[in-house]
Amino acid sequence: MNDTGFTRHTRWDTATSVLRYLRTHDTGGTRSDIMNHLALSSSTMTDTCAKLRDLNLIFEQSVHSQRRGRPSLMVRPHPRGPVVALIDVSHTHWRLAFAHIDGIPHIHRVESIPPSRTIFLRSLTDVLTNAHNELGSRLVCVVVSMRSTITENTHTQPVFLGWDHLDFTDLVTQLAPLPVMIENNATLSALAEYHHRRGAAHGYRGVLLIDITSSIGGAFISHGSVVSGATGSGGEYGHLPMGDPTIQCRCGAYGCWSTVTDGYALARSLGDPPPVDPEEYVHTISDECLLDPEGVYATVRDITAHGPLQTRTLTSARTNLGQGLATIAQGLGRGLAGLTNALAPDVIVMSGHALTVRRLASRAFTQAFDNALMDVRRTRAPAIASAVFGSEGYLRGGAILALDTVITPAYLDARSHH
Ligand SMILES: [Zn+2]
Repeated sequence: MNDTGFTRHTRWDTATSVLRYLRTHDTGGTRSDIMNHLALSSSTMTDTCAKLRDLNLIFEQSVHSQRRGRPSLMVRPHPRGPVVALIDVSHTHWRLAFAHIDGIPHIHRVESIPPSRTIFLRSLTDVLTNAHNELGSRLVCVVVSMRSTITENTHTQPVFLGWDHLDFTDLVTQLAPLPVMIENNATLSALAEYHHRRGAAHGYRGVLLIDITSSIGGAFISHGSVVSGATGSGGEYGHLPMGDPTIQCRCGAYGCWSTVTDGYALARSLGDPPPVDPEEYVHTISDECLLDPEGVYATVRDITAHGPLQTRTLTSARTNLGQGLATIAQGLGRGLAGLTNALAPDVIVMSGHALTVRRLASRAFTQAFDNALMDVRRTRAPAIASAVFGSEGYLRGGAILALDTVITPAYLDARSHH
């Protein structure tokens, strides 16, 4: 039979699906789990596993089943198989992790962010070049997660680092032909929550993810595709003008939603100076609330039910904290309702300090959310879920993106000819 490129590639479709199963399930799976999940016959599964073993992509380990009968075969990533490198950049640190084809990130090193962006970019380039030299062709892709807007995969404005511009073009060029993808952290988090079997958004059709760290990060997945606009920089929901129009956001615009929901907003409402690290500030406040949860919950409940006047009998510290949290929770609830009206998600996944605020001031949040929903959305209101992976989602999502991009039928076909 004439072997066209098309038939060669379709021959690897089942093998690609088996590998995809491994990166979206935690502990790999037994042959029978995978067979059932993908509706494969026993002979197809045996044949596919043999091909993947030959390519050093998997190995199989005999495990004793709970059920009676024969021991089952566990399918695991081959220790000498492909690897993806993942970099996650926060305000204060960057970390490097590697993942095998099971997509589970293993943190390799954590470094402080240097003061200059030239040094920062050089450090990333050096560390990735070294990894490439050590791993050779086993390193198949790099994903860099940034808490900022990414345009055309190379340009970003990480205002949280005090840098108005960061250009990854040189890094991408130096590592070529190794594919390097620069991606927004919330987008990666959404990919992890959506694709992973255990993720909070798994099985939903419209997924809105909101992750508050230094400011609001967001992503929307519609029927499996990330909605990211013409240049890939869409999804900046934190900069919709749903905030106070007199407050200028660090993005340059006035009235952004972020300015009434982030750590700076909480500090402003509590009369504190602007925090150096807003993420850390929210953690501190959250810990303070945990020291006296009943006091704070009672205050927030009171304010929500009766307005601030009724709380004058409480200590002023508690009143301030409760009032501050209630205000932030209301801003968060209203904004999420606005996005629900516009985007029609069937699940909203919350991550970072969005979760903290909602937990500490749940009634204020819920009231504001419900009040701002259109009737048509209220009758089929989206589920609200907590992110399963948290900040690990940036790495998990990066691994899924990298492996989905690289481990294709064409890749397996090319590997089989080496
Ligand atoms: Zn803004």
